[in-house]
Amino acid sequence: TKEDVKSYLFRNAFVLLTVTAVIVGTILGFTLRPYKMSYREVKYFSFPGELLMRMLQMLVLPLIISSLVTGMAALDSKASGKMGMRAVVYYMTTTIIAVVIGIIIVIIIHPGKGTKENMHREGKIVQVTAADAFLDLIRNMFPPNLVEACFKQFKTNYEKRSFKVPIQSNETLVGAVINNVSEAMETLTRITEELVPVPGSVNGVNALGLVVFSMCFGFVIGNMKEQGQALREFFDSLNEAIMRLVAVIMWYAPLGILFLIAGKIVEMEDMGVIGGQLAMYTVTVIVGLLIHAVIVLPLLYFFVTRKNPWVFIGGLLQALITALGTSSSSATLPITFKCLEENNGVDKRVTRFVLPVGATINMDGTALYEALAAIFIAQVNNFDLNFGQIITISITATAASIGAAGIPQAGLVTMVIVLTSVGLPTDDITLIIAVDWFLDRLRTTTNVLGDSLGAGIVEHLSRHELKNRDVEMGNSVIEE
Ligand code: ASP
Repeated sequence: TKEDVKSYLFRNAFVLLTVTAVIVGTILGFTLRPYKMSYREVKYFSFPGELLMRMLQMLVLPLIISSLVTGMAALDSKASGKMGMRAVVYYMTTTIIAVVIGIIIVIIIHPGKGTKENMHREGKIVQVTAADAFLDLIRNMFPPNLVEACFKQFKTNYEKRSFKVPIQSNETLVGAVINNVSEAMETLTRITEELVPVPGSVNGVNALGLVVFSMCFGFVIGNMKEQGQALREFFDSLNEAIMRLVAVIMWYAPLGILFLIAGKIVEMEDMGVIGGQLAMYTVTVIVGLLIHAVIVLPLLYFFVTRKNPWVFIGGLLQALITALGTSSSSATLPITFKCLEENNGVDKRVTRFVLPVGATINMDGTALYEALAAIFIAQVNNFDLNFGQIITISITATAASIGAAGIPQAGLVTMVIVLTSVGLPTDDITLIIAVDWFLDRLRTTTNVLGDSLGAGIVEHLSRHELKNRDVEMGNSVIEE
């Protein structure tokens, strides 16, 4: 009836608006492309999209902290321990499967035939070794200053840089010192500009450190009985307030997504630079991501929960499209929360506990991509990888995906680690930059899908602990 249609439309208003935004944004982008806007005009044009990114990022930090603290505090140590184990096992399993798919697909399709001489390059690459990045990752788990951890992070600089300016015969000493200082300043700015995002950081902020702290903090106040009451209530109410802000931003999201997509289409490079190898490479990545996102993950969800994965994924549509539009799984986090809790009815104790961690460390799409891209670079260099090197690539790709921040193109940067581990030229990352903005969107969507299905799976596996806890707390027991 008419009423049914109306209520259907209202219930699905967000999804309909978001899908419309993608379509309109794409059409608008291609219509305006021929006008060749200047860089400034593109920035003006995509302004509503930039605002969406900023609004979402604004909420991420308080959301991660309040949800993890309350999520941990709401569980007893046995339940959180078990749930944590399940989440970690799920993250590791799916990431390794993703890496294996990436490797198999790139070996079968072999997109890197021929040489790299006629391939197009873009940008510059900074050197980091795997050991440096690994130490940084661990180091960042323990921020020495919590307040500072909320600000932009600077990477530890492992290379001693000396600023040598030879004194020219016609120069005074003062002049040389001034030169020295200004060169030092210049080098410093260059280093900071080329900064590799800190492993585990979100938007420059040390998210990993905050995740670790919030979990420990939540765990402690969860066990504090009476004395912890005030803090538990504080974080609970903070979390509720942030989620209400998310609800407001959700109304703005479709407009933002429309302009993010249209702006990107207007600004993207002409496809002319994308030669045959790069096109094949793009196809290979898409096939790999599709196998993982459309076949492997839904099947896994089905086998564990015996529920229809497509109904679950349908409830996530808005989060998936936001991931596609923003290419940041952290920025998408607020929407992922909403979709899982409201559309899919996942228990809040689970989402609060596993989603912030998942968005920070579980990146299936990125892992698949890094392994695949490294082997592609080996192929264009006619570099024969032995079995040991392929194993090294799978391990470092997994680590690099854990270390990658949930921000646009972070995966491209952590690729350096994978390449150096087997002695491939890191400069060749410049060969794949031209298509990375696009592939980034697809792998971010896969990342968000992996985190969300993971929340569903962990909830299913933990249903007994959750129920026991409800009985213990005297809550009305949730339906299975
Ligand atoms: N942009 C991705 C994400 O936010 C990370 C990556 O670059 O692979 O999930």
